[in-house]
Amino acid sequence: MTSDNIPTTARNQCKYPGCDQAAAPATGPGRPPEYCEGRGHTKVTAWRERRHLAAAQAGKPRHDGPGNRCGAAAFPARRS
Ligand SMILES: [Zn+2]
Repeated sequence: MTSDNIPTTARNQCKYPGCDQAAAPATGPGRPPEYCEGRGHTKVTAWRERRHLAAAQAGKPRHDGPGNRCGAAAFPARRS
């Protein structure tokens, strides 16, 4: 009696980059959700995150940081 037909596509995995949660269960007919719920993962936020990751990988800034300037000596430390 192993006639249980479990559909493997019942739940998708969340498509948000780096998210390993299962997508939200389908609430009705039509396409099932592609993102999990409760984390703010939507098509829009996933798109933004992908852009952010792509930009970070494509061109990393050469500066060490916004506070690391060459003109550190420009700050007058002398008091008279
Ligand atoms: Zn997610």
